[in-house]
Amino acid sequence: MMNRPLMIADILHHAALNHGQREIVSRLPDTGEIHRYGYADCYKRTQQLANVLTGPLKVKPGDRITTIAWNTHRHMELYYAVSGVGAVIHTANPRLSPEQLAWIIDHAKAKHVFFDVTFAPLVDAVAKHCKTVKRWIAMTGEATKPQTKTKVDVYETLLANAHDEYDFPEFDENSAAGLCYTSGTTGDPKGALYSHRSTVLHAMACCSVDAIGVGADGVVMPVVPMFHVNAWGVPYAAAMAGAKLVMPGAQLDGESLQSLIEGEAVNQVLGVPTVWLGLLQYLRDSGKRIDCVQKVLMGGSAMPEALMRAYQDEYGVEMQQGWGMTEMSPLGTVGKLLPKHEDLTEDEKVGIKLKQGRLLFGVDMRTVDDDGNVLPRDGQSAGHIHVRGPWIIDSYYRGAGPDSFTDDGWFKTGDVGHIDQDGYMTITDRSKDVIKSGGEWVSSIDLENAAMGHPDVAMAAAVGMPHPKWQERPLLIVQPKPNTTPTPDSIREYLSTRVPKWWLPDGIEFIDEMPIGATGKILKTKLREMFKDYTFP
Ligand code: ADP
Repeated sequence: MMNRPLMIADILHHAALNHGQREIVSRLPDTGEIHRYGYADCYKRTQQLANVLTGPLKVKPGDRITTIAWNTHRHMELYYAVSGVGAVIHTANPRLSPEQLAWIIDHAKAKHVFFDVTFAPLVDAVAKHCKTVKRWIAMTGEATKPQTKTKVDVYETLLANAHDEYDFPEFDENSAAGLCYTSGTTGDPKGALYSHRSTVLHAMACCSVDAIGVGADGVVMPVVPMFHVNAWGVPYAAAMAGAKLVMPGAQLDGESLQSLIEGEAVNQVLGVPTVWLGLLQYLRDSGKRIDCVQKVLMGGSAMPEALMRAYQDEYGVEMQQGWGMTEMSPLGTVGKLLPKHEDLTEDEKVGIKLKQGRLLFGVDMRTVDDDGNVLPRDGQSAGHIHVRGPWIIDSYYRGAGPDSFTDDGWFKTGDVGHIDQDGYMTITDRSKDVIKSGGEWVSSIDLENAAMGHPDVAMAAAVGMPHPKWQERPLLIVQPKPNTTPTPDSIREYLSTRVPKWWLPDGIEFIDEMPIGATGKILKTKLREMFKDYTFP
């Protein structure tokens, strides 16, 4: 067989040749307008950008180019042009603090930074700390060039003068193509460096029906940002398959999402649970619907049962759960029922959908106990989850976190869970969030999920608090729904029929607003800090 290298630029080239008119639609952060063009035009502009990068911007293979940007067609052009010329696209998360953002740009030794105009103040805040950066480029036209202290170039002006033919070179498929840092809730962020090979293989896996299932009939909207693990691979998978791609830009509120979904007849949406909570609230308040949506992939944190049922029962939307992480490109498992589940009751089906999903080919997984013994795949022996595979990192960028790898070639995910004989994996916790009560583990995820079913609970988080007798006991922190005042007793009573008795939280506290981190998840580190002096009643 031919040994052709797997190259990222070839994906877009294929899209331009074979589904050139299929659209990429973006809500632009600079003008608020809807921009649309086909993959063929996207490829042309990507070639122009490649000429800009290798010409005036003097980008060389291996250089790191940072983006601080929303999901738009321009970000898509950067994805393909930067990797295509042999450089590395580093997608920085603008929700990080300015200190962390400056730290990662500096750590990546970025040569240039491309940013959306909404992040101009952030650029001014970090620019002086980013010693390696030569040019700051605003992803906009002259008319909407932001006012900044920092000297900036304008994306459209650079492109306007560039030739639209560029021969993307072929090189070793193992060369670096992308760089994404973990959100670093504990210690400094760590970088995962993706290769052309890993990215293309991951995109092929994303397309398969039992994974994300992206096909030519798809109208796919990644609400998950392109700065969050490559929007879960969708910008590559959609181009590969010929799906229409709908990019929501900076407006991720319920109203903006609903109007874009309906306006573009989106049939597949991907995002973290907090996004779905916001959209649900809007749908309920406005009486609007999202009838065109057939599939939703929810990942990044556990899918709350109440949320899944609400979309299913009130809006007829099928919710699937996926699990993965930055270090895994990110996809590891996706939830889907099997033919043998057809005759189960609705509640039994829900039980299966609440698992994190079935393992995809390409991701090997094992669970081990504290002493490293491999546990049986019996659907109940919970242990530390290890993975290996062609789109999983074998080290962190520049040697960080060596303890995360085993001597026999596995990556320690930091998650705890179990696997069953059908390949369904269930996460019971993050290693650092496990609540250790008298030698047994209470699953904070299950406890939170159960609590989220209470009619007055908007969000819930369980953390382990020191306990003189049991080592740790659960404290449940609750953000009530607007205009409700649930009592600890009503929540405890609700939980009492839904979780084992010994899991019932010893304390239940209320806060107005959950602290949410840079990737849209509840920040348990912050909660632990807020409640550090807490003692159980
Ligand atoms: P992402 O949020 O894209 O998955 P991160 O690297 O930010 O990537 O976070 C990864 C962590 O998020 C996982 O290790 C796991 O703890 C948690 N996570 C991801 N998906 C799920 C899920 N479906 N259920 C529970 N936890 C999840």
